[in-house]
Amino acid sequence: MTSLQLPLATSTQQTLTYQLLLLFLLMFATWGIWRCSGYLASHVQPRVAADLEQSAFDNLLTKSHRFFLDQFAGGLVRKVRGLSGGFVAVCDHVFWRITPLTASLIVIAIIVGMRSLWISIGIVLGVTFIVALNIAIFYTRRMYELQRAQKDSEATGILADTISNNLNVKLFATHHQESERFHVALAEKTRLAIFTWRFGEKSYFHINIINVAIEIVVMLYAFHLWQQGILSLGDFVLIQTYLFSIFSKFFDTAKVIRGIYTGLAEAQEMVDIMNMPEEVQEKAAANELTVKKGDITFSHVDFHYQQEKILHDFSLRIHSKEKIALVGPSGAGKSTIMKLLLRLYDIQGGSICIDDQPIEQATLNSLWRNAALVPQDPILFHRTLRENICYGNPNTSESEMIEATKKAHCHTFIDKLPAKYDTYVGERGVKLSGGERQRIAIARAILSKAPILLLDEATSSLDSESESLIQAALKELMKNKTTIVIAHRLSTIMQMDRIVVIDGGKIVDIGTHDELLAKDGLYRKLWTIQAGGFR
Ligand code: ATP
Repeated sequence: MTSLQLPLATSTQQTLTYQLLLLFLLMFATWGIWRCSGYLASHVQPRVAADLEQSAFDNLLTKSHRFFLDQFAGGLVRKVRGLSGGFVAVCDHVFWRITPLTASLIVIAIIVGMRSLWISIGIVLGVTFIVALNIAIFYTRRMYELQRAQKDSEATGILADTISNNLNVKLFATHHQESERFHVALAEKTRLAIFTWRFGEKSYFHINIINVAIEIVVMLYAFHLWQQGILSLGDFVLIQTYLFSIFSKFFDTAKVIRGIYTGLAEAQEMVDIMNMPEEVQEKAAANELTVKKGDITFSHVDFHYQQEKILHDFSLRIHSKEKIALVGPSGAGKSTIMKLLLRLYDIQGGSICIDDQPIEQATLNSLWRNAALVPQDPILFHRTLRENICYGNPNTSESEMIEATKKAHCHTFIDKLPAKYDTYVGERGVKLSGGERQRIAIARAILSKAPILLLDEATSSLDSESESLIQAALKELMKNKTTIVIAHRLSTIMQMDRIVVIDGGKIVDIGTHDELLAKDGLYRKLWTIQAGGFR
C-alpha cells in the first residue's frame, strides 16, 4: 500500500508543481504583454494620432479651390478627427485585445501540445478558422460601415451648414424644413447603423454555432485519448479548461474585428481625401515667379467649370502698371478671369503669362505672393483684427499697420472698439459689417507688396461717402501696380486706363470710358441704365 501511495503522491506533487509553473509562466507572459501594450498606448499612440491629424490638416491646406467648394466644413472636420480617432480605436483593439489573445493562444497551445500535439494543432486550427470567418464576415460588413460613415459625414455637414445659416433659417421661417432635412439624413444613417448591427448579430449567431461544434470535436478527441489511456483524467480536465477558456475568448474577437473595421471605416474617408490627386498641381520643376514689370497676357484661353464653356478663345494683354476694369452682366465670367489668373483652376486651352512666364510653370506660392486679391465678400479668421490685417505680412510694424488702416478708412472704427486691434472678429468675421470687412481686406492689400492688384467688387459693400474716400486710397495703392478691377458701379471705374466689356465669356468691347460711351454698345447700355437709376 505504502509503496503504491508514494509514487502516486510524488506524481501528484510533480503535476501540481508543473501546473503551478505553467500558471506563473502564463501570468508572467500576460503581465509582460500588458506592460508593453501600456507603454505603446501611453507613449507612441498619442504621438502618432497627433501626427496623423497634423498630416490630414496639412494635406487639406494644399487642396485645390474646387475641393472646398464641394465639401462641407463640418464634414471635413469630422473626417480629420475620424482619421486619428480611427487609428486610436484600432490601436486600442490591437494592444488590449488582439495581443493578449494571441499570447494566450500561444501559451495554451504550448501547454496542451506537451500533452497532445494533435489537440494543440486542433485548437490552433479551430481558432484560426473562427478568426478567418470573422474577418471574411467583416470584410463584407466594412462596405456598410463605410456607407454609414459617409451618411454620418453628410449629417454632420448639414448640421454645420444649418448652424452657420441660422439667421436665414429664422428670417425665412424654415425651422421645420431644416429639421425635416436633418431628420432624413439621420434616418438614413440610423437605417444603415441598424442594418450593420443586425448583420453583425446574425454573423455572431452562426459563428457561435461553429465555435461550439469545433469545441465538441476537440473534446471528443480528447475523451477518445483518455479512453485509450494516452491522457490522464487530470490532463483531460486541464485540456477541457483551456479549451473552454480559449474558445470563449476568441468568440469575442468578432467584436474586436468589428471595432477595428469601424475604426478603419472612420479613417478611410480622410485617407481617400489624402490620396485624391490635386486638381491644380505645381510642376516638379516649377520656378519662382519673378515679376519686374507686371505684364499679364491671356492668350486664346478656353475654360469651363463643368460642361458649359465659360471662356472661349479669350485673349487679353494687360500692360505693365495698366489699370483695367472688367465690366459686363452678372455671370459673364469676370470673376472667373481673376480666378484663372490666380490659378485657382487650370485652364483647358491657351495660356496665361505674367511677364512672359506661364503661370503653370511657376510655384503657386510665388504666384499668390505677387498678386493681391480683395474679394467682394472677404472672409476673416476668428483671430484679432491685428492678426487679420497683418495676415501674410507678419513682419509689419505697428506704425505701418496703422498707416495702412488709416488709408483704408478702418482705423477710426477699430480705435473705437474696447480692445482696439486686439478685438476678435468672430467666425468668418461675422462680428464686422460687410463694409468693415472690405476695408480690412483693403488694408491687408495695402500692406502687401504684390505688384499685381485684383479688386473684385472691393468697395461694393461701402456707403457712397466711404467709397469715395477709399477710392482715393485705392488710386494711391494702384499707382505702381498692374491692376484689374471688377465693378458693377460704373461710376467707380471711369478713370481706368481701359475698360474691357465682357459678355458670355467673350470680350465685346475695349476702350476708355469716353470711347465706350461714344459707341452704341453694351457699355453705353449699362451706363444708361445706371444713370437712369441715379436720376
Ligand atoms: P458677377 O458679376 O455676378 O459676379 P461674373 O461675371 O463674375 O458674375 P463668374 O463668377 O465669373 O461671373 O461666373 C461665370 C459663370 O460661371 C456663371 O454662370 C457661374 O454660374 C459659373 N460658375 C462660377 N463659379 C462656378 C463654379 N465653381 N462651378 C460651376 N460654375 C461656376
